[in-house]
Amino acid sequence: GPGPGEGNDGVNVNVLLRCRPLSDKEIAERTPQVISCNEALREATLYIQSVGGKQTSKTFRFDRVFSPESSQEKLFKQAIVPIVQEVMEGFNCTIFAYGQTGTGKTYTMEGGPRRSDDGKVLSAEAGVIPRSIKQIFDTIEANNTDSTVKVTFLELYNEELTDLLSTFDDGKEDGKRLRLLEDRSGVVVQGLEEVVVKSAAEIYQVLDRGTAKRRTAETLLNKRSSRSHSVFSITIHMREVTPEGEDVVKVGKLNLVDLAGSENISRSGAKDGRAREAGSINQSLLTLGRVITALVEHSGHVPYRDSKLTRLLRESLGGKTKTCIIATIAPTVQCQEETISTLDYAHRAK
Ligand code: ADP
Ligand code: MG
Repeated sequence: GPGPGEGNDGVNVNVLLRCRPLSDKEIAERTPQVISCNEALREATLYIQSVGGKQTSKTFRFDRVFSPESSQEKLFKQAIVPIVQEVMEGFNCTIFAYGQTGTGKTYTMEGGPRRSDDGKVLSAEAGVIPRSIKQIFDTIEANNTDSTVKVTFLELYNEELTDLLSTFDDGKEDGKRLRLLEDRSGVVVQGLEEVVVKSAAEIYQVLDRGTAKRRTAETLLNKRSSRSHSVFSITIHMREVTPEGEDVVKVGKLNLVDLAGSENISRSGAKDGRAREAGSINQSLLTLGRVITALVEHSGHVPYRDSKLTRLLRESLGGKTKTCIIATIAPTVQCQEETISTLDYAHRAK
């Protein structure tokens, strides 16, 4: 349970909604849109076309709503900057991207296909990860603190952990298999490669190495990334001298999680003969939902132990931490069913 002074009162879950724009193909095909976003009211409305031609609508409110026109910069400035500031104060924070495959989770977290970041200038399409990295190094530089920045990057697929930064390669495997160990001090991922980075530019290289590995794995195992979770973690050790002249080290950690496609916990996942595999993904995604519900509702038992993802993130969920869920949706009528599930799921987390 929570230690002294860190009861569930500190739980802080922010839920944002982001709707992607229509793709060129959808525009060419004149795909009907069923979502309308109102950023000022922080609401999204879904227009449901029933068989009889009757139209009904349902409106959902979130902590923030980002319409299809919202830029990467706007989302970052409004929703993520305060979280990274919190991390630099020595807290653990986690940002999740949750939604159906193809709705912009990876776009939001990593960035668009034309992203290229050199550490000084960010491209307009750069996502939450490169922008957070820049903010972290800018803060370190501005405060002139003696700091160490370490990153890890792992993938969770079928309840198995793979190190995306491992230099070990046997030609078959796309990374090392990792074991999750628990001791009194918390959870340890045995053998996980921790890369010390000295500059933002270095971190981008590390990130690219990991995403390249994830993509390779995807071609080997069809559509793997839609069924796997990726966790990019940045830990910052900051040495400070107190007014009393005492040397203290503040530790902040930021977890950036690109979740498996949410269709994996709905009926579609079990329908197409991938039931067992989908079932395994259910475990982490379903448990995450239950953990967040338990934290938000302050209901005593939090089932962290029921999945690898929640065991892994335990120290960063609950207690005095900040959690942000970015729920992503598509505006099209074809995605209507999944959009309803995402809106319901995200809304329940509030
Ligand atoms: P997911 O990771 O959820 O499967 P992606 O991030 O791969 O989805 O997005 C699917 C496609 O839509 C990609 O081509 C991506 O570049 C594009 N896209 C997603 N969100 C946006 C956005 N907000 N603005 C522009 N393009 C987007
Ligand atoms: Mg993706």
